[in-house]
Amino acid sequence: MDNNFSQRWFYTFFEAISAAEDELGDLDRQLGDGDFGVNLMSGLRLAAASVDKLSDSSTPEEVFYAVSNAFLNTGGTSGPLLGMWFREIAKSYENHRDSEVAALADGVKAGTETVQRLGGAQKGDKTFVDTLIPVVIALEHARKSDATLREALDMAAQAATEGAESTSGIAAGLGRASYIGELALGLMDPGAKALAMFFHSGRSAAEV
Ligand code: ADP
Ligand code: MG
Repeated sequence: MDNNFSQRWFYTFFEAISAAEDELGDLDRQLGDGDFGVNLMSGLRLAAASVDKLSDSSTPEEVFYAVSNAFLNTGGTSGPLLGMWFREIAKSYENHRDSEVAALADGVKAGTETVQRLGGAQKGDKTFVDTLIPVVIALEHARKSDATLREALDMAAQAATEGAESTSGIAAGLGRASYIGELALGLMDPGAKALAMFFHSGRSAAEV
């Protein structure tokens, strides 16, 4: 993929979340406290201020470190967790300059493990971890089958959608949404939805 693919991915994600900010906020309002759309956009605006300054030939790790640092300086439960998640992706790109599929497969896996270790979420707790676990499996499969980056992102996006949709059918195991028990049934977790949008943005950016 060309050098500024990761920048294109970031800006595609930025646009997608801008358009969905209110919808994500509404889901969080029904499940938690309503600040998720605003939290996510604050992180992305902060990240954009850094990514805007990078040259066209910046490396993917520069882009993902900028995004990570922005989220580490953003509030909510999601801010620091996403900051740590993007940090592992940036680190993995540093270690895999030869293959973007390997960089993504290892980075998303390490990032998801870190989020689970720090935040304690398991599969089925109705968090963005439910989007990420199927993506980890899809990217591992992509790497083993020598998929191109475009094919890998296609598989990741499909797995992410299935993971995000699975959160509609379950009550939450932790976080604010767990305080409303079965009233959370029928609502998609906003974090899970946003992370699915991240992989769909990657797929769109790879099609250009
Ligand atoms: P807060 O609950 O502090 O208001 P945000 O609104 O910023 O947090 O983020 C809410 C999102 O964070 C949820 O939709 C969920 O996906 C995710 N989340 C919450 N707790 C955890 C956790 N322990 N591990 C992983 N993700 C979590
Ligand atoms: Mg919230």
